[in-house]
Amino acid sequence: MPAAKSGKRTATRSRAHGAADRGGESHADVFACFAQDSPGRLSPDRLLKVLNEAGILRDDPRIAETIAHLDRGRPAPPATGPLLLTAEEFTAATRHNRGIIERAACGELAVPDFPALVADLQRIHEEVRADRSGAVASYIPQLARVDPEQFAISVCTVDGQRFSIGDADVNFCLQSVSKTVGYCLTLEEHGPDTVHRHVGREPSGQGFNELTFNKAGLPHNPMINAGAIMSCALIQRGLDAADRFDFVAETWKRLAGGRSVGFNNSVYLSERNTADRNFALGYSMRERGAFPPGTDLLATLEFYIQCCSIEVDTRQMAVAAASLANAGVCPLTEDPVFSAQTVRHCLSLMSSCGMYDFSGEFAFTIGLPAKSGVSGALMLVVPQLMGIAIWSPRLDGHGNSVRGIEVCRRLVDCYNVHTYDLLTGTGAETGKRDPRLKRHQSATEGIVGLCFAASRGDVNEIRRLAACNIPLDAADYDGRTALHLAAAEGHRSLVEYLLAKGVDPRPVDRWGGTPLDDANRSGHRDLARLLAEVTGTPRRPAP
Ligand code: GLN
Repeated sequence: MPAAKSGKRTATRSRAHGAADRGGESHADVFACFAQDSPGRLSPDRLLKVLNEAGILRDDPRIAETIAHLDRGRPAPPATGPLLLTAEEFTAATRHNRGIIERAACGELAVPDFPALVADLQRIHEEVRADRSGAVASYIPQLARVDPEQFAISVCTVDGQRFSIGDADVNFCLQSVSKTVGYCLTLEEHGPDTVHRHVGREPSGQGFNELTFNKAGLPHNPMINAGAIMSCALIQRGLDAADRFDFVAETWKRLAGGRSVGFNNSVYLSERNTADRNFALGYSMRERGAFPPGTDLLATLEFYIQCCSIEVDTRQMAVAAASLANAGVCPLTEDPVFSAQTVRHCLSLMSSCGMYDFSGEFAFTIGLPAKSGVSGALMLVVPQLMGIAIWSPRLDGHGNSVRGIEVCRRLVDCYNVHTYDLLTGTGAETGKRDPRLKRHQSATEGIVGLCFAASRGDVNEIRRLAACNIPLDAADYDGRTALHLAAAEGHRSLVEYLLAKGVDPRPVDRWGGTPLDDANRSGHRDLARLLAEVTGTPRRPAP
């Protein structure tokens, strides 16, 4: 068994290290954030509740020392009364886990408004549950017998914020989702040049188990059966079958945050007995000379079927997806499982080929790398933000989970996570929000940007902000608007632009001042004339 890579990588990809130590003084402020309800005292339950709301769960290894410290401090029965921490005790309890706890308290994690994401996922789960269309895979009895009503969604951000809803503790087989990790392992071991001498990287445009090859006689890509069989031929060829399987299972475990994955032996046995198509693919590839010399075809096919029979729940799959979103580093354990290059290649092929012959449509409407499996699993990656796992066994005609696809659709409807949403922005026009923003951040930044640009007379910047749906008559805390500032600074073309855009010509700031007052006060007579005309205000006599 090759030594698994382990140890902490201190590269920038590891965000948990990123928090600056705020020092003793402001750690007291962090304490105050948690202890809002009872100043000076903090109950551990309140601390855990606030962390939980930010998506940092009790079993998160990054707060393990804090949890152990708090558990040690709990009064043993029959003693009564809640344990309350002083600021000093809080500092002592959290001293090993300050980075993550401070970032959670300060709303500095990848999805700062995590409760809003949770509420959306709860709503989406509730709405999509009503959809009973599609049918479970029936090619083996073990899949045909699965309760089709089951439905789980789990999310994990690149900062390890987690939430799950539905049947998130029920195990299911990876099936084709295993193809992602299989491909990554080949890249890590051989590099892309060698790997792609044996497998292409074009979508096939055909079903996942179609008996078809590219012009060079190779599988079209690693995300369909033929390509995944090829990946299995390339992974750890020097090891015996048991160690090769352990190597893959261990990799899933590391990606998923350290909890062991399962194996469904009956699925494996059933698949092996009905794998005519996969055997046909294997023999065809051998006939074409696609495999590296010395490949044991039967062992390779068995290894492929074993990989499909690995079991996880959506909690684990979401963490694995988040590890991909986080460039290969598991957000919970900081374990650098794959290199960023490997993940980049894998996400590229998931984007173009991950959803069988629905991949083009998925890239168009959802615009994110994803991989599905016939068990009803769907793993979705939002690079640098989060991983999402959806499981619901009823499949559509392409073999994708019906509810899985619908959840993706709805997520992309509410959030600007489609890769090219960066061109169309957020706000009223698109109806999309940016999950990366703090609560109220987009509105606040818009107004600050507007006032700053107005004071400089920067019409282009104001146009850009208008395109991002920032209301041009928005006012800051003092009631000052872009028109006040443009008038005060004498920026005539901006004043004209704003008036032409229909902003209120007579907004009143907190001191009762209008843009006309600003123009007068600053001696911009021509602007004062213009504003007086527009507002129908009698002109002041010239001084
Ligand atoms: N075990 C299945 C097969 O090889 C996996 C395919 C899938 O999930 N699409 O046919």
